[in-house]
Amino acid sequence: MMIQTEHLSKTYQNGFEAVKDLNLHVNNGDIFGFLGPNGAGKTTTIRMLDGLLTPTTGKVVINGMDIQKQPIEIKKIIGVVPESHGYYDWMTAAEYLQYFSTLFDGNKANSHYIGELLNKVGLQEKRNVPVGHFSRGMKQRLGIAKALVNHPKVVFLDEPTLGLDPRGQKEIQQLILDINKMNGVTVFITSHLLKDVEVLCSTVCIIKDGSIAVQGSIQQLQEKYMPGYEMLLQTSDNMAAMSLLLDIKDIGKVTTAGDYITVEFPSGLSADEVNSLIHRLVAAIITANIDIKEMTRKTLSMEDIFFQATEVHRNGSEAEQ
Ligand code: ATP
Repeated sequence: MMIQTEHLSKTYQNGFEAVKDLNLHVNNGDIFGFLGPNGAGKTTTIRMLDGLLTPTTGKVVINGMDIQKQPIEIKKIIGVVPESHGYYDWMTAAEYLQYFSTLFDGNKANSHYIGELLNKVGLQEKRNVPVGHFSRGMKQRLGIAKALVNHPKVVFLDEPTLGLDPRGQKEIQQLILDINKMNGVTVFITSHLLKDVEVLCSTVCIIKDGSIAVQGSIQQLQEKYMPGYEMLLQTSDNMAAMSLLLDIKDIGKVTTAGDYITVEFPSGLSADEVNSLIHRLVAAIITANIDIKEMTRKTLSMEDIFFQATEVHRNGSEAEQ
């Protein structure tokens, strides 16, 4: 386990409890997505994990070390990419990385390593350009290079693609995947861009009002919010196919919308029972000389999961979990 929190809570001075009894589990080498609506407590949590904010109660353990007892040791193994960077516009990219490297251990990093980092984030050719001349995407890549200056085991990224154009978002996503793979770095990321989460994350935690709504692998989340098996079908004659499907015993719920037929098998079926139903369904359609144009298993998008996990009923009360 790379990051673990035990009953982590934070009550601000005005009495507001922003984070409540959070038990997070981030495995070694994971790209962990930490999500939640505005004000859910993500930044408060990240700041406690970075050691920038003291928890009111509970514990943060990173790589086996308690942040309250070994804050300096933990600082040495983490890198942080905050939502907004405090850049010194007059510094060049190389000077900026040198500066942070010196802050870390008092020694100037060798220029070979600075060059390697700039290369990794695609800024080698801009090494002598002042940061003030950088675009938002370039600044974000430099921020990631800065977070890697101390060879961290964990990198925290708060909204890494915020405000970037689609190409910039893709570049940052690729960079995060590379860092995770090549450097074996565990990545903890918050993002409102759910595409980031779908592309990057192996595990996700969604929080709401300071508490965990759900935590697990994307597959576990999909199974939680869609426990049954649903199929989408498009055929050369949906009306005829529909009436054939309705005749199949125990097939479950068959509905149609737009160009698609949705078949919702009864929940609790074994894999063999699902396969047998699929065989019967395909056989019924093909025997009637109807072409199957498309047949896919319906899965939930990260957006579907996010909305379900953070659902608020119209009268303002929360969804039952
Ligand atoms: P966003 O997605 O908007 O960045 P967030 O999930 O990061 O939101 P936080 O910034 O952690 O949420 O804030 C959680 C709650 O704590 C919010 O209701 C916020 O108003 C409150 N809060 C944050 N900082 C303080 C503070 N210093 N004093 C009192 N309340 C605070």
